[in-house]
Amino acid sequence: MEAIDVKNAARRFGADLVGIAPLSRFDGVAPQNDPRSIFPQGKTMIVIGRRIPRGTIRGVEAGNPANGTVADFGLYMLEDQYLAKTTYDLVIWMENQGFEAVPMFGYDVEATAGVPLGAPVSEGKPAPNVYVDWKRAAHLCGLGEVGRNGLFITPEFGTLQRFAMLVSDRELAPDEVLERNVCDNCNACEEACPLNSTLCSKCSAGAVQTDFGRFHTVDKISAACGRACLASLEERGLISGKFTTPFRKH
Ligand code: SF4
Ligand code: SF4
Repeated sequence: MEAIDVKNAARRFGADLVGIAPLSRFDGVAPQNDPRSIFPQGKTMIVIGRRIPRGTIRGVEAGNPANGTVADFGLYMLEDQYLAKTTYDLVIWMENQGFEAVPMFGYDVEATAGVPLGAPVSEGKPAPNVYVDWKRAAHLCGLGEVGRNGLFITPEFGTLQRFAMLVSDRELAPDEVLERNVCDNCNACEEACPLNSTLCSKCSAGAVQTDFGRFHTVDKISAACGRACLASLEERGLISGKFTTPFRKH
């Protein structure tokens, strides 16, 4: 089982993006966020992504979102069902080759920081739960970068994807960390925000406010700042996706 086999399998199971990095790239990360705290025998991080359908945020832009469209197809069902199924299928496929992979959900690691859920099982171990920063993992796997608006941006789909992680005991050929920037500081995100990029927790410009299950994070992909970013990236040809009908920048 080589890297190309893992990538082909992930795509067969529905992944649109796959990146691979050795866990040594996590050196220096706090034990509370280190994937090796979960699987000490692990050698490789695999990050898989699935696209958010672009049409899920169309109704938000029109000021008339269909109930549940962006939150369900763009967030909850996408992460909890479609991406989870892709992750599960890939883990089982890897186990059938004789290797393990620990599947991990992509929680917002900053939001989890203030919520210790248990006591360490022994001295020197981090308190459960250990949360791995999916944005760091996706970056280290060469998939993109965090833009100025805090959203993870890829050269393929801009802001429109969700990620899950797998930590495997199989060494695999890594991808290079992306050298070029995708966010070019165009400032479209800040210009589009009606609240001067403050009060995101009260944002009614398309953000999805999550509950305790996702640590009350504000999902900004469909918010004015996220939609303007996508429009700006598309307009200037900075991502590979091409579409007939553009989004507005403001
Ligand atoms: S809108 Fe421009 S500055 Fe803001 S995150 Fe996107 S690319 Fe970066
Ligand atoms: S989430 Fe809303 S308030 Fe926060 S930066 Fe984006 S548009 Fe502005």
